[in-house]
Amino acid sequence: MRRLFKAKIVTDMRIVSSMRKLITRRQRIFPQIKLKSLKFLVLREGRSGLRQFELSGKAALWGLIALFILTPAVFYFGSQLLLETAYAHRVAKLRKDNAALHRLVERFEDRIAVMQREVGVLSEMDQDLRGHAQMPDINPGIRQVGIGGIMIEVRTDMDYLLPSSDVSLASITERLDALYRSVKLEQLSYEGIRDSLKNDLARLRATPSIMPVTKGKFTSGFGLRRHPYTQKYDFHRGQDIKVRTGTPVFATAGGKVVAARWDGNLGLYVKIDHGNGFRTLYGHLRRIGVEEGQLIRRGDRIGESGNTGRSTNSHLHYEVRLYRQSQNPINFF
Ligand SMILES: [Zn+2]
Repeated sequence: MRRLFKAKIVTDMRIVSSMRKLITRRQRIFPQIKLKSLKFLVLREGRSGLRQFELSGKAALWGLIALFILTPAVFYFGSQLLLETAYAHRVAKLRKDNAALHRLVERFEDRIAVMQREVGVLSEMDQDLRGHAQMPDINPGIRQVGIGGIMIEVRTDMDYLLPSSDVSLASITERLDALYRSVKLEQLSYEGIRDSLKNDLARLRATPSIMPVTKGKFTSGFGLRRHPYTQKYDFHRGQDIKVRTGTPVFATAGGKVVAARWDGNLGLYVKIDHGNGFRTLYGHLRRIGVEEGQLIRRGDRIGESGNTGRSTNSHLHYEVRLYRQSQNPINFF
């Protein structure tokens, strides 16, 4: 039992010593692999068969070092070159865009100048029309609103993009605003002229301004007179025109027939409301050619003259009233 154990130990010792030998052998082998003795063989299959290159370890090491240094350098300079090319391209595009912007701004300037001239012409025409319409001219101070007016400061840091130093986005904006104000002012002024002319036209249409008969002798006039029928003094509210019975009678202005009937004094008569306070009356007619409520124009035939009512001879009794006040008709022929 004891011997057996010993033998076992001996055997174990042998294993240990053989291992030691193995280790020392290895230690001897490793230092033998030196850089100088390292050789790389590169085989390449070419057209003329297999070709062989030899590379020493040292050369390979230098090659590796060079590769480590050169690779980032190449990447760095390469990317720099790429960036510069891209930048140059972008700058060229921006220059082109800016040139286009210059042309656009110059066109704006030209157009603004053209519009300013056109508005000037409109303004002169406006003044002229006001003269014709007998309207007072617009206060020059108010007209200035368009030209000068309140300066609205437009702050911008983009003026460096514009063609020259005397052009600024603020001045362009200001001039456009001024143009807008001028156009607005002209619009208001023209509206005023239109309304005034419309009123004038309506007034002219409403004002009796022709003879109710083409010809005839003026007999009894407007004012105090001895009545031919009663022989008493009374106020004659119109103008008598001696005409043959059956003479056509015309409306002296446009309007609406408010009376077309019989009256003891006036006989058959027609009364027309012209608007603007004007009314005319045509009396002693033989025949009435219109109806109450009918709309008529100046010169329309409304009936025939006669000798009806309190009349001693064949004539037309013609009256003009303004706001119910009798007017002398001879002022409206
Ligand atoms: Zn009369």
